[in-house]
Amino acid sequence: LCMMEKFEPVLTPEELRSKLPEWPYFIIDLYHWNKHTQKEKGKVCLQVSQSYGLLRDYFTGRELAVTWANDEFERMFKGPIDRITLYAGPTAEFLRENDIDEVVLLDPWAEEVLSEKDFDVGAFIIGGIVDTGGNKKKTTPKIGEELENAGISVRRRKIVLRGDVVGVPDRINRILGIILKMMVEGKSMDEAVYEFQ
Ligand code: SAM
Repeated sequence: LCMMEKFEPVLTPEELRSKLPEWPYFIIDLYHWNKHTQKEKGKVCLQVSQSYGLLRDYFTGRELAVTWANDEFERMFKGPIDRITLYAGPTAEFLRENDIDEVVLLDPWAEEVLSEKDFDVGAFIIGGIVDTGGNKKKTTPKIGEELENAGISVRRRKIVLRGDVVGVPDRINRILGIILKMMVEGKSMDEAVYEFQ
């Protein structure tokens, strides 16, 4: 392999900007908001704030988009609401407005494992879902179906630890952190997962 092609780990934001054609969006999709209890909604809000904090370490924070963001989310969210991208409508509409027709959906039920070949998409989507009760099983694939029905190509990808989803933290902000460690710092999936366990 030509050495010139080797991806350098640990890039400064400026170097990263010059390498990526455009920064991707990291979308937290609140399609399933109303399936949550009030307490769970509070946890969703907290994990969105923590996601903003992580993203700001690498990007500007604006790349964090929250879709299906209703009034209740806006009221309950205690983070810097004016520094993230809020979209009250469907995720597919947000994507269309931004000329994005293919996405990666982070989905623990996917067949395929996320890899660096997937880092070229315009957006990564994480389900804005918190599981404390057992009523939200298989809700992530539903987000994918919604997007496909609206004409978006969806690459469903899972994050695994030594080949298995067991042992991977499922908090929204940790999933985002794992992607960022792999994408920006060039870490392997196992290393990235260990850092967020
Ligand atoms: N109850 C949901 C289900 O059965 O589909 C899982 C919700 S999980 C708490 C929150 C989000 O984190 C998911 O929607 C997904 O985007 C992401 N996620 C969690 N674990 C993941 C994994 N192992 N691989 C990829 N994405 C994951």
